[in-house]
Amino acid sequence: MEEHKMGKLIIISGPSGAGKGTICAELMRLMPDLVLSCSVTTRSPRPNERKDRSYFFVSEETFLEMVRKNELLEYDQHFENYYGTPKKFVVDMLNYGKDVILEIDVKGALQVKLNYPDSILFFIEAPSEQALYERLIKRGSESEEKIKIRMARNKLELAQRDKYDYCIMNDDLDRAVAEIIDILKERRK
Ligand code: 5GP
Repeated sequence: MEEHKMGKLIIISGPSGAGKGTICAELMRLMPDLVLSCSVTTRSPRPNERKDRSYFFVSEETFLEMVRKNELLEYDQHFENYYGTPKKFVVDMLNYGKDVILEIDVKGALQVKLNYPDSILFFIEAPSEQALYERLIKRGSESEEKIKIRMARNKLELAQRDKYDYCIMNDDLDRAVAEIIDILKERRK
């Protein structure tokens, strides 16, 4: 009988505006056997968000209830909001042998790595601070004040990139995605 193979967690982190969401969407398009975890958050949806990048949007009360019931694999609070990964879906998928992508922040990623040491951690970098700033402005979903807060947090996240298995420079989307796919194929062998 063939041995049952558990799936792996693939973690994508990096600064706001580095293009993590686009990279995850491309990975899902090009490797349809991957599954994408959908986080819960207490922040408000951005215009059109449901179409491209979705969360389960919940109240703080509901979120804290999930924490109390131990329903989250990891969670963190930033930008005055909570973000967390629902545990059941991820664990079920891993048990089915599926590799699951989590797009989460650095703190959450390191928390997950402790519990799942064979997780593969990717840190997505943008070519420059200016490029990040321009992408956030172009996205148009945050006020100037909030963009400043995100830029300050980007610096903190960047300082932790050495803790990741791979740093991927997203100066060219196709190349960055191809690099990640090559690594995943190699790790599956
Ligand atoms: P945004 O508000 O731009 O969607 O996300 C802000 C930050 O929260 C990003 O760095 C994103 O990766 C992170 N994030 C999204 N979902 C989760 C989650 O489930 N857990 C953790 N720890 N961070 C998350």
